[in-house]
Amino acid sequence: MGRAVRGRFAPSPSGRMHMGNLWSCLLAWLAARSAGGEMVLRLEDLDPDRCRPEYCSQIMRDLEWLGLDWDGQPVYQSQRREIYREAFRKLEEQGLIYPCFCTRAERLAASAPHRSDGATVYDGRCSRLTAEEREGLFRQRRPAWRVRVRPEEISFSDLLQGTYGENLARDCGDFILRRSDGVFAYQLAVVADDAAMGVTQVVRGSDLLSSAPRQLWLQEQLGLPHPEYGHLPLLLSHDGRRLAKRDRDLELGRLQEEHTAPELVGRLACAAGLIDRPQAITPRELISLFSWEKLPQKDFVWI
Ligand code: GLU
Repeated sequence: MGRAVRGRFAPSPSGRMHMGNLWSCLLAWLAARSAGGEMVLRLEDLDPDRCRPEYCSQIMRDLEWLGLDWDGQPVYQSQRREIYREAFRKLEEQGLIYPCFCTRAERLAASAPHRSDGATVYDGRCSRLTAEEREGLFRQRRPAWRVRVRPEEISFSDLLQGTYGENLARDCGDFILRRSDGVFAYQLAVVADDAAMGVTQVVRGSDLLSSAPRQLWLQEQLGLPHPEYGHLPLLLSHDGRRLAKRDRDLELGRLQEEHTAPELVGRLACAAGLIDRPQAITPRELISLFSWEKLPQKDFVWI
């Protein structure tokens, strides 16, 4: 028998939830509940420039309004810096961390636009600084901190997207684990938290598919277990962009003016292939209808 499923919601409280967030929250919840599993909630409020406490309570009200529940107390990343510091220290002990003094402009110049998602690959120039150069730069500015990756292929079998892999050195480059203002980066926090919270199943949008190899690799370096991953197709607007917070019409506050929760859930469930017509239905009623085989793999336009 496999281990008991423990899924998670991991919203960023940087605004009101929109259709795209509802889509991933509903399916993450259904994946866990249909396996008889638990669901935990983590508010990813690490970035003080983008996140607001009032959005945290709003997200919880919105999840409840939709009929999605979670087990135990919600966890706030802003209160867990000790856990991230400890993970960072472990990587430091292995000699994997180095300071990067590149400014934003230098970073862009030091990077090749490599990936299809437009992300760049850092060329590792700060890892080659001499001790003397480093010292001089330390006096000028506070560095960000990068982890040194190796030219190895990290691949895994996604529950929805099949096999996906990256050669971290070629496709990603040394990546930032701590910003120059001291804020721990998403990649580190998510890995430390998923392990600390006992998460065994990560279901989220496929905009994060290319983060998975970095996370698997970090888990490896930290001796942490690997959760299974399912990356959902994205909801696109008519012009082919992925739905985002700026699509105000699809923000939950606006949607609630015209729809009941079961109506919205029904539309999402129909798009997910779980029901034939977009009829009103509750998440609980969908549990027995969920299966990974029914879900679409490709991004689609949300009408
Ligand atoms: N907080 C991220 C977001 O809202 C999700 C991170 C994750 O699921 O790993 O996009």
